[in-house]
Amino acid sequence: MTYHRETWIEIDLDAVAYNVQQAIRLNPNKTLMAVVKANAYGHGDLEVAKAALEAGAKMLAVSSFDEAMHLRHHGFTSPLLVMGITDLKDVELASEADISITAHDLAWIQALTKQPLKKELRVHLKLDSGMHRLGVIHSEEIFECYNLLTSHPVIKLAGIYTHMATADDNLAYLQAQVKKFQDELKGLDLSGIDYVHLANSATLLQFNHDFTNAIRLGISMYGVNPNEAFIPLDFKLKPTLSLYSRLSQCKKIKKGDKVGYGATYEAQADEWIGTVPIGYADGWIRANQGRHLIVEGHQCEIVGRVCMDQLMIRLPKEMPFGSQVTLIGDGMPVEVVAKELDTIAYEIFCLLSDRIPRLYKKNKELIGMRHTRFKK
Ligand SMILES: *Cc1c(COP(=O)(O)O)cnc(C)c1O
Repeated sequence: MTYHRETWIEIDLDAVAYNVQQAIRLNPNKTLMAVVKANAYGHGDLEVAKAALEAGAKMLAVSSFDEAMHLRHHGFTSPLLVMGITDLKDVELASEADISITAHDLAWIQALTKQPLKKELRVHLKLDSGMHRLGVIHSEEIFECYNLLTSHPVIKLAGIYTHMATADDNLAYLQAQVKKFQDELKGLDLSGIDYVHLANSATLLQFNHDFTNAIRLGISMYGVNPNEAFIPLDFKLKPTLSLYSRLSQCKKIKKGDKVGYGATYEAQADEWIGTVPIGYADGWIRANQGRHLIVEGHQCEIVGRVCMDQLMIRLPKEMPFGSQVTLIGDGMPVEVVAKELDTIAYEIFCLLSDRIPRLYKKNKELIGMRHTRFKK
């Protein structure tokens, strides 16, 4: 396990397992799908999928067919759902690889049923209950889709689901969506359907919808309450991802000296400046200028523009070369990073590029690494 630049991510797989177990505790008797799309929100799909399945998840969910095939190629045999659109040219491959796909549109389903399929193809019908992204919206069309899928000799309608646009920051909208979904289901015979699901993290953390039997756990598996202000929890989700670096240089500059591209920062006094080997090419975007990183317990401001591969911080004193810098972690939770950048934790995670190696920890011990830019 090697990497050659002192900037790295640590993933706590015990925390992933704990968060999965908490979701199961809150939703007993429901199948938990671990959402590992977008490389498991930047954490590493293979490692997170393994930890989630060991912790009790029964199914994996991804956004695209490529992501699903990546898991299959690496030996994951568990049920696997593609939640985004799958191209019709890939449906035969989906049936061969036993990948469940989402049927989201009447015309698409009509075309699907004409495909030459040899092996069973498992499909989840997606209803649009108010998000207006993917899904069939009108009752008559839903009924037609249902009939097409259930009467097909090779296609198996394995699930019906929808997706929520709001948590309880807009309870009325959420309830209207649930009601619309429930109303549509009333017109269908669900006896042969394995999974009915609607809940994402925000929903499953606070509501237990009796008429569903599966949940899709995403951001909360990664330790984040998607809506802290509205969703009080009787336990603490555990953070799963930390981002660290080390000072590559420390130097004293004089009052009036400038720092970085464009010379946008001017020292107000004689100051210690530290250089950190991380930049916007790592996903640590330029908007981080003016935010703080933690070195030896001190909050240190990012001064001057964030470069592609490096940034500079103002230190309270001289600090040794190699001092550890925390960008996300103890004292700097991802929620704070997101808030200060006026975005959400999802985006902070997904921005972290594959140039940063991911180190995996279990029982506080390093058990593996993923570094896709470094191949032996
Ligand atoms: C991403 C996604 C989820 C997971 O959402 P979280 O808010 O991360 O829990 C669930 N369902 C669908 C359809 C998604 O796209």
